[in-house]
Amino acid sequence: MAVRRKCPKCQNWNGSEDYCQFCNEVLSPLIIEEIREKEREERRRNAPKTSLDNFIDSWEKSPSLFLRILYKVCYTVTAIVMGIAFLFAYLTVGSNG
Ligand SMILES: [Zn+2]
Repeated sequence: MAVRRKCPKCQNWNGSEDYCQFCNEVLSPLIIEEIREKEREERRRNAPKTSLDNFIDSWEKSPSLFLRILYKVCYTVTAIVMGIAFLFAYLTVGSNG
């Protein structure tokens, strides 16, 4: 059975073409998904930093030595916790086969 796609823009029926023969609207689900993925990526890149990011960033640039040390400690602890989590994940996968 041949693929028939109805153009969402001009409501005309097309065959298996990736683009509408009448108005050039994108009809291929793959291309639509690709465009959506690009838009999502663009939005992620343009997204403003969260207040938590700003908060932690302000520590790094803080004139207070205490906050700068606290930032380094938090950063190091996060790195260690991630390392342990990764190690556990690795061990779990390893023991199962
Ligand atoms: Zn069309």
